Amino acid sequence: MSSFENNMDDNRREESSLTGIYGRNCFSNAVMRERLPKTVYKELLAVQAGDKELDPDIAEVVASAMKDWAIEHGATHFTHWFQPLTGLTAEKHDSFISPTGDGRIIMEFSGKELVKGEPDASSFPSGGLRATFEARGYTAWDASSPAFLKEDATGVTLCIPTAFISYFGHALDKKVPLLRSMEAVSRQALRVLHALGSPEVKRVVSTMGAEQEYFLIDRDLYLARPDLIFTGRTLFGALPVKGQESEAHYFGAIREKVLAFMRDINLDLWKMGVSAKTQHNEAAPAQFELAPIFASSNVACDANQLVMETLRKVAERHGMMALLHEKPFRGVNGSGKHNNWSLSTDSGANLLEPGENPESNARFLLFLCAVIEAVDRYALILRASAANSGNDHRLGGHEAPPAIISVFLGDQLVGILDAVAEGRPWDGKSGHKLELGAASLPKLPRDLSDRNRTSPFAFTGNKFEFRMVGSSQSIATPNMVLNTAAAQVFSEFADRLESATDVHAELQAIVRQSWQAHKRVCFSGNGYSPDWVIEAARRGLPNIANAAQALPHLASPDAIKLFETHKVLSRAEAESRAEIYLDKYAKQIAVEAQVMVDMARRLIFPAVTEAVRQLCDATESFAKLKLDSGPLSENAHALSAILSQFHRECATLESELSALDAIPTAVERASRARGSLFESMEKLRGFSDKMERMVDRELWPFPTYDELLFAP
Ligand code: ADP
Ligand code: MG
Repeated sequence: MSSFENNMDDNRREESSLTGIYGRNCFSNAVMRERLPKTVYKELLAVQAGDKELDPDIAEVVASAMKDWAIEHGATHFTHWFQPLTGLTAEKHDSFISPTGDGRIIMEFSGKELVKGEPDASSFPSGGLRATFEARGYTAWDASSPAFLKEDATGVTLCIPTAFISYFGHALDKKVPLLRSMEAVSRQALRVLHALGSPEVKRVVSTMGAEQEYFLIDRDLYLARPDLIFTGRTLFGALPVKGQESEAHYFGAIREKVLAFMRDINLDLWKMGVSAKTQHNEAAPAQFELAPIFASSNVACDANQLVMETLRKVAERHGMMALLHEKPFRGVNGSGKHNNWSLSTDSGANLLEPGENPESNARFLLFLCAVIEAVDRYALILRASAANSGNDHRLGGHEAPPAIISVFLGDQLVGILDAVAEGRPWDGKSGHKLELGAASLPKLPRDLSDRNRTSPFAFTGNKFEFRMVGSSQSIATPNMVLNTAAAQVFSEFADRLESATDVHAELQAIVRQSWQAHKRVCFSGNGYSPDWVIEAARRGLPNIANAAQALPHLASPDAIKLFETHKVLSRAEAESRAEIYLDKYAKQIAVEAQVMVDMARRLIFPAVTEAVRQLCDATESFAKLKLDSGPLSENAHALSAILSQFHRECATLESELSALDAIPTAVERASRARGSLFESMEKLRGFSDKMERMVDRELWPFPTYDELLFAP
């Protein structure tokens, strides 16, 4: 056998073992079908579809099967896995072991334990919700997202995806509103579909695929930088020499290490049933992307949490760190999370897919217009859903979408919608004016290939890609807002269609009016260009620069009305969220400032002092021998002058920090943090980065950008 054939054989073996590995640690519907009595499985499907509540007897049977499966796979503990408002996932581990009273143990896991958990909720932020109502919080199984096993050094744990609610049912997490928004968008989309003559559709599901960007850096270098450890980003650091980023040596040098990492991450995710396909991303050195295949929004949300968690874990195993921060390095492309979103019927029809016939194309254009209208009307809330302290450094930074929400459709769709709205032929090709749902509708192109990478909200053939979302964020909130905003417009369209005598004429009128009123949000040009900022202002589109200004829109009168109408968030829930996020935002910036002060005083100041001292010594030695000490003393003077400014700014930053503490409300704290506190941080960094360029490499107290980004 040739070595080539040998190789092929190895690959085939690996492939067949991979198919065996996929989903091995996932209590998927396929596993449930195998292990549950038929009637129980059918009941569970109805629960997943939202048609039924979970019956306690059914829960008992499921719990028992789940426990047996988990124990067979080596699990000793179980946990209710949930997403508190901190953005991370939380778990409280319990073991399956129950003492029997006679010194023996049995492995137990009841339906009650499956369905409901009672974590100590007091350490999670509630924005006053629990204080107002009731201290307890409960986790409840989200039966539509599969349970899975997590394997790590501590053993194997059964993780049950849950929603986290207060005693009175208030949402304390990100999952509950997402699930409610999925209900809302289904309810309203169904009304539209039924009015259009598709009574057979029973459910509409919002779908989601998250492309996760991240950086990989060496773990030892990471551990030498307090800023990376405590804040996830570099707070100081001069850019490497320009042009270096295009050098290929980096990829060459780390290829083996990164490939081994990617193999491992894929295996870990595949085992849990997350369909990862990893790929290089060449936008920045050391930056990569991982995209699983899309799923319903709640499942995709859980999967993305697992992706982030697993990236971190596996990177460490390989002597690296995965940075999920939106902007770990100044001047280097940041990381986002492309949020691919669409709507699908229970029979699998994608409502944003251009159709094969005039009727389905009319339906497509109606849903398309509804989404455009939703994005235009609720742009502020959508912008707020992608706001966090990391994204402040990314949005509008000439690399990522600007902070202005706009929609990219492509010229063909814009042409078609214009033609519909103006009642003229499309493309001038046919003599008939464009009538939706009539025979004259042009066949829409399947592949809209002229993609615009600079658009924050781009139509990509059969889905929208919301590109503003930050790499570290949970996708729950952006999708919750998208679903709810779409639900609102669908409900208004449905009202009109339901009472129309001529549904086709009404559909045509809706598309025409909606497009005329909201085409202003569509933009096909370069979203990074300064001209767009001016043009967007002329069109009246909001441009919200930072999270301090954006986050309050999560609880604006418009937002509260929207969320309350669709029972996604109550006023109290919306307000508590805005409060929690603003508070977290201010805290994050404050922590950054504290770390800066600490690094400034204990690392940078002593290092630069030493550099100046060496220059002074050398100046003296030179002078003794009557050598030209001019350059040395000039450098010593220049460096010490910046050091004085640096020192003064450090004091300013410290007083800014104590002033921040005294501010009573979260919204004011956020705006102060982003205002004068942030300005002082910027100045301090400016001085440090200047000095870094002047000081002997050997003396610099932590790894530089060159080392972090380009070191093998
Ligand atoms: P890109 O060119 O942006 O990389 P891809 O074709 O790789 O686009 O798809 C990106 C993501 O979009 C993937 O996670 C994919 O599963 C997801 N996606 C595809 N179709 C849909 C859909 N109908 N709804 C939601 N996400 C989808
Ligand atoms: Mg993409």
